[in-house]
Amino acid sequence: MKTLCCPRCQTELVRRFYKGMIEVDSCPECRGMWLDLDELDRLEDVVFDDDAHKGSLVHHLHAARCCCPQCGVEMQEFEYRMYDLHLDLCPERHGFWLDGGEDERVLEIMRQRAEQFNRHIGAEQEWRLLLKHIRLLLGQNRKK
Ligand SMILES: [Zn+2]
Ligand SMILES: [Zn+2]
Repeated sequence: MKTLCCPRCQTELVRRFYKGMIEVDSCPECRGMWLDLDELDRLEDVVFDDDAHKGSLVHHLHAARCCCPQCGVEMQEFEYRMYDLHLDLCPERHGFWLDGGEDERVLEIMRQRAEQFNRHIGAEQEWRLLLKHIRLLLGQNRKK
């Protein structure tokens, strides 16, 4: 398996288990992480019982200034509105990049939401839903 490098700082990425649910390639320097579609495929199935997620689809912003660690193609920046989350997606649908700290910020927003709506669903469960949603997005547009 070839080694992947961080699209931001070119440091070699290391495998780590993220929140006990998914393996990611993360950068020890800038703490960003790469999630590829195959890894997202391994996420256990979660049911979308929340219509709110449908209204928060990802919107294209502009070309990102970094390249996919897998194929080197320039990535596209998207915005996941509900969480004010910026994602860099590979146009070849290899996966997406999250900058260091973005995931923690999103998790914090999720915690607040969970409290606000007094939901039984936890922040980590919500995070799982988000990843699943991104996986669907990547899968939908994947080239044959
Ligand atoms: Zn880095
Ligand atoms: Zn790629």
